[in-house]
Amino acid sequence: MIKQISFAVVFAVKLFSFSIYNLGDSRDKALLIVGGIHGDEHGGYLTPALFIQEYKILNGRVVVIPNLNTESIVVHQRGVNGDMNRKFENLDSSDKDFQTVQELKKFILNEKISTLLNLHDGSGFYLRNSRNWGQSIVIDKEIAGEVSLKNSAEGVVNRINKNLPKEHLFGVKNTETSQDSYLEMLGSLTYFAIQRGIPSFGVEVSKELDEVKRVLYHLEVIEQFLRESNISFRRNFELNEDILSQKLKDYGKVTINGNIELPLNNLKKRLNYFPLAENNNTFQFSHPLGKAIRVKNRFDIYIAHRRITSLYAQYFKLDEIEPEDIYIELDGNRTKVDFATTSSLKFKRSFKVITPPDIRANVIGYRSRGNETNIEIPSSKIERRFAIDLAETLFRVEFYRETNFIGTIILINEL
Ligand SMILES: [Zn+2]
Repeated sequence: MIKQISFAVVFAVKLFSFSIYNLGDSRDKALLIVGGIHGDEHGGYLTPALFIQEYKILNGRVVVIPNLNTESIVVHQRGVNGDMNRKFENLDSSDKDFQTVQELKKFILNEKISTLLNLHDGSGFYLRNSRNWGQSIVIDKEIAGEVSLKNSAEGVVNRINKNLPKEHLFGVKNTETSQDSYLEMLGSLTYFAIQRGIPSFGVEVSKELDEVKRVLYHLEVIEQFLRESNISFRRNFELNEDILSQKLKDYGKVTINGNIELPLNNLKKRLNYFPLAENNNTFQFSHPLGKAIRVKNRFDIYIAHRRITSLYAQYFKLDEIEPEDIYIELDGNRTKVDFATTSSLKFKRSFKVITPPDIRANVIGYRSRGNETNIEIPSSKIERRFAIDLAETLFRVEFYRETNFIGTIILINEL
């Protein structure tokens, strides 16, 4: 399944088992970044996800696939159906990756792709041991068509090495795929693309490095390839480990069925009695690697391979209401409620929900004998342990019409 994101300059095409994000001018030839072909290589999929959220393409075009092997990313395995990066030459139609591989091949052949980058985290350090892959730009041969892959890769390597500590320097690894010992690479994505005239490179950052460093180095390599392709871009932050570490911890939000906007940072691992529909629930994540997986009576919410929380469902029929029919007073200030965008409602001392007579509210953590609308509820009367987050500041208020569920708002109690 594919998710949508609400980032303004980006849209995700919803036809594939993986997501495709078009950034920049769609009429141009594109630099294609493929992430997540191997599901246990964090840098390889966290980097393109961050790129989609944080980079703006000013001139030219970049297409990003952050999650090619979605199924393997969630379970954090190289490939649940074997190594996908060996399946681009010949593949039996019964192979479980067949559809994904075919979709990507078709996409590459139908689009105007100027350069392809396939992102990996590789073993060790190539410059210390040439059998290793880490810290290298991988090419399948020296010349492809009229392009010297070697010269391009060396140019990128020389420029990024200027700023790297000695032990993390990159090298260019030529697998000479068509002739020698790396015969298994004939089935690789880059080799497939090169055979079709597209200059392609594997980007391998060392698995010996922590996640933040891997993303940092992947981004530095990508930026060099963008410069080489004359694609101009903007990022509104300095490229360093402190800032990247913060950004990688931001899981964003998920909008569920259009009637709950759940913030995903710092959540408790388990949320009970979570109102959902019995079937066909929709989950729209702001993070490109967000995914909801149903396991019996619960829905596990993932960002990449990390389980953020589990929603233990209580099933309801869904009902709709005009949003302007519900108000909330936060410390005496009245606001309209819109269920799809309500995770930033803040109060300090007290709040009051105001609804039409047929709408009932349930403030989770507040004990009362009856309807909880149209009464002032002081923050001191809410039991903290019912908060959805670890800091115990976020509280659910649910709305119902008779036995049907209408929506939830999340209130932030600023202390
Ligand atoms: Zn890999």
